[in-house]
Amino acid sequence: MMLTHEIDPNERTICGHIDKSSRGLPGWQGPYAPAGVAQVKVTDAELARHLAFVAGMGHPCGLEFHADAHLEQHPEYNWQRPLLRDLKANAWITVSAVATSTQAAAGSPGR
Ligand SMILES: [Zn+2]
Repeated sequence: MMLTHEIDPNERTICGHIDKSSRGLPGWQGPYAPAGVAQVKVTDAELARHLAFVAGMGHPCGLEFHADAHLEQHPEYNWQRPLLRDLKANAWITVSAVATSTQAAAGSPGR
């Protein structure tokens, strides 16, 4: 965080790490609730010009969520156990609606 020079992912950071916040997100999630960002999509003018964006599954910062470890520390959310899954950090990929020159040359489907 720029103001405090601390690295403290929580409900106030863009990743929305509510699971790491003692405050939770009042009105929506309680303290340490297993909630937050699960996927991201970003574009800029250049990518948008090519009908493209960069996307990632998981927290964009690379931190992973491990359901069993979290529920061990916060058993008040055990009721979510049957549906709660780990959230892995995956590599970012570029998604485009326009075929690359390699795909176009190979006669990819949809062209
Ligand atoms: Zn994060």
